[in-house]
Amino acid sequence: MDLQRRGVMLVIASPSGAGKSSISRSLFGQDPNIRLSVSVTTRARRTDEVEGTHYYFVDVPTFNRMKAEGELLEWAQVHDNFYGTPRAKVEEQLSAGNDILFDIDYQGTLQLYEKSRADMVTVFILPPTIKELRARLERRAQDSAGTIEKRLRNAKLEMQHYSEYDYVIVNDDLEASSQKVRSILAAARQSRPRLTQLDNFVKDLQNQIDSL
Ligand code: 5GP
Repeated sequence: MDLQRRGVMLVIASPSGAGKSSISRSLFGQDPNIRLSVSVTTRARRTDEVEGTHYYFVDVPTFNRMKAEGELLEWAQVHDNFYGTPRAKVEEQLSAGNDILFDIDYQGTLQLYEKSRADMVTVFILPPTIKELRARLERRAQDSAGTIEKRLRNAKLEMQHYSEYDYVIVNDDLEASSQKVRSILAAARQSRPRLTQLDNFVKDLQNQIDSL
């Protein structure tokens, strides 16, 4: 039996290519209760990306307008592009007990900590080696050689931020890493402050004892 609860804001961060997207996909495949927070970005769409599923692709003036009008819960510049989390629906989903997965960088995570720490559980994914990280970026074959080099150099900076996260996973096996994230989420769902009707539930149990 499931107790009523607030949703979990699950943040998964990693340097590009460490396996965050594959882990996220595997979570969605097995868990209908989790929704992806679809970000807005000014980055060009990759061929396999779908508007509204992977990102909302916008131009810089639109991004700036959304920022100015307070429509973004957090935003950051990453690899020369802007990214942000639309505010709409996040609170609604959390109150309804739905978990939200945020694929955002450390700058965004720090902004969310300031507003929503109690709702958040954060996981940082590291690659097993840099050789493997480069191989994954090259296998993905979605970015130019220059972009891959830039992402590798940026990985060094991003990795400095592991200490700002609740959990760290070295992703040397996709299935094992996905299972670890599922376990973290399962534990977070049961954390006492998240259980909204606990007082009533326990009172009801006590009343049942009284009426024995
Ligand atoms: P990519 O261009 O590979 O899709 O994403 C590049 C980086 O931007 C990733 O580290 C990703 O987590 C981050 N990112 C994507 N969306 C957002 C967002 O809405 N906010 C922030 N702060 N970072 C984001």
